[in-house]
Amino acid sequence: MLKYTTMKKIGVYIHIPFCKRKCFYCHFLKYAYEPELVEKYVNALIKEIRLRADSRYIVDTLYFGGGSPGLLSGKQTAAIMAALRENFGFAPGCEITLEMNPEDVNGEKLKTLHEQGINRLSLGIQSFATADLTYLKRAHSREQSLTAVEEAQNAGFTSLNLDFIISLPDQDKKILEQNFLAARKYKIPHISAYILEGIKEKNEGKKEQRDHDLYFFSRDLLASFGYRQYEVSNFARGKKSRSKHNLKYWQNKEYMGLGTGASGYEAGVDYKNTTSIKNYFAGIAAGRLPHVETGKLACDTRRIVMGLRLLEGIAASSFKNYPRELEMLLSGGLLLERSGRIAVHPDKILLLNEILGYFI
Ligand code: SF4
Repeated sequence: MLKYTTMKKIGVYIHIPFCKRKCFYCHFLKYAYEPELVEKYVNALIKEIRLRADSRYIVDTLYFGGGSPGLLSGKQTAAIMAALRENFGFAPGCEITLEMNPEDVNGEKLKTLHEQGINRLSLGIQSFATADLTYLKRAHSREQSLTAVEEAQNAGFTSLNLDFIISLPDQDKKILEQNFLAARKYKIPHISAYILEGIKEKNEGKKEQRDHDLYFFSRDLLASFGYRQYEVSNFARGKKSRSKHNLKYWQNKEYMGLGTGASGYEAGVDYKNTTSIKNYFAGIAAGRLPHVETGKLACDTRRIVMGLRLLEGIAASSFKNYPRELEMLLSGGLLLERSGRIAVHPDKILLLNEILGYFI
């Protein structure tokens, strides 16, 4: 048995690619929910976990993302958790997050998940406004969202994230204010707020202006409610409430990706599992890891691309291969230097992709 201190800490991401309905704006990998397919997938996942067994690894964050991991039964999450615990070490206090849609929440299920060690829930609220939910064609109602939050708290989930979507075509500041007021009322420790992307609108200029106005309105309002922005779309009440798992991505730390379409980053290499569930099943059945891609970004470039998403930025030394680009972006006011760290100017954060274009 290796000592805890000699073990290598790693995050684990598990993709559960099933949804009961496919939302028109969603670009995550998903398949239609069929109970037999989900059962087959859970068995394949357990085999993949065994293929990846490594006694040097100690899992310190675990994230069930999707798709809709909330569709898994308690028996299925228990089987996955047991396989992980049999094949890896687990750090004390490991953050274990599961994404769930409000319509999949019920008190019994939450109690079971909590007993299994899942200690953080990320609820796909999107908005508490009925008009927004109708536009998004979501399967849940405002009332289901409110009940989901209350049930999660009753089941003992103190670490909660609510996902919101901002800048829907008819959304205004009042709606956003109501959404964030509800989060504050429930003392939710973490909020993610994503701009609706990838939907063609007739007037692109109007959409851009609305994105800008509603994004910065949300940021400032959340700040006044005690939610400090720490990443482009993420806000937390206090440092301890930040998502430890997602911080691994942005801080260029290692994580293992399990399941179809999951990405990972280990030993300096980015990889992705096949997005074809058929090929995923075939690979696992043959005892092969279903990796299809490896990374192309140089280590310092990767650190910049991931790290500039954080408001605290990254060490200035990370830019030693980009002196001209750095100088230009600093003098243009797009980047800032503070105490040896470089960060995107908080008011220019929506230009992040343009800024990153200078490094890749
Ligand atoms: S439920 Fe979530 S993952 Fe599934 S299609 Fe809708 S937004 Fe995407």
